[in-house]
Amino acid sequence: MSGTTLQQILAANARYRAGRTEPLDPGGPPFLILACIDPRLTSFLEPALGLPQGRAIVIRTAGNRITAQHADVLRSVAAAVYVKGASEVFVVGHTDCAMAHFPAADVIEAFRRAGVARSAFGDGDLREWFGAFSGTRENVTAAVEFLRAAAPLPRSLKVHGLILDLTDAKLEVVVDGDKATAGAAPPDSEAVKTSEPVPAAAPQPKVRPIVITGERPVVETRADEVPAPQTLMDAILGLREVLVAERKNPQMKRRLAEFSALVRREKNPSRILAGLETVLKDVRERHPQLPGILAFLRATLESRGMEGRVTEFMRRIVD
Ligand SMILES: [Zn+2]
Repeated sequence: MSGTTLQQILAANARYRAGRTEPLDPGGPPFLILACIDPRLTSFLEPALGLPQGRAIVIRTAGNRITAQHADVLRSVAAAVYVKGASEVFVVGHTDCAMAHFPAADVIEAFRRAGVARSAFGDGDLREWFGAFSGTRENVTAAVEFLRAAAPLPRSLKVHGLILDLTDAKLEVVVDGDKATAGAAPPDSEAVKTSEPVPAAAPQPKVRPIVITGERPVVETRADEVPAPQTLMDAILGLREVLVAERKNPQMKRRLAEFSALVRREKNPSRILAGLETVLKDVRERHPQLPGILAFLRATLESRGMEGRVTEFMRRIVD
């Protein structure tokens, strides 16, 4: 069996849909599946994806969610990577997920009937406590982005996003981890880097056309321009590098402190980005990569369901 693990899973899925169950080679490298707790996936997920015993590690959480709120899931992912040697993760969402149409009234009724008070879930949003979400596709992408950015995990970890259709077992690729830019430097080492000095006469990069296709905005780049980032993580790391360099300038340091305060209090991500664009307007010529980064962030913000991710990452880099 040849090809990437993703290609092998897609081939096994095609065989399954044609009536033939044949798992991947059990002798290949271990990989991790993050799927939902939905009982319809039990004894269905494994043959539908061709998951081989002894090689595929399966973690199941409600709504295949992994967030900073649920540290224990990250612990299991890290154990899969460092204890079991997994080098790829497949986040597998599914159609008709109960967490996508969270029955809040029924849930409240159920725990009250069981004698559990609402206060047992804290005073925050109940949907958030349970990890409910509104879009299956966005939810898979969010898990992929979380895993790619999670500090304890290696940047070399390949993270893919898939959706399994419960009616016909068709597997859809939402994020192809083989195509993502690999090897983004860890944030810690970014902090000590400064940007390369750029001659004052450096040509100002022009505004790039932005194409939004499905999940991920694509910022087109001409050959003579600094390439635009290809992932949100790359854009954020690039931005962080610019901010670290600019904080050395006392005047910029003050303006960036004001921007940090804005990020902490402002809820509207579009206003946060507008604030960032204003702060960095005068330093663009020092950072030829900046227009591409800002264009990517703007495009990400405009693609459905990504607003929260941009705000969350922005908060992390200004702190
Ligand atoms: Zn589900």
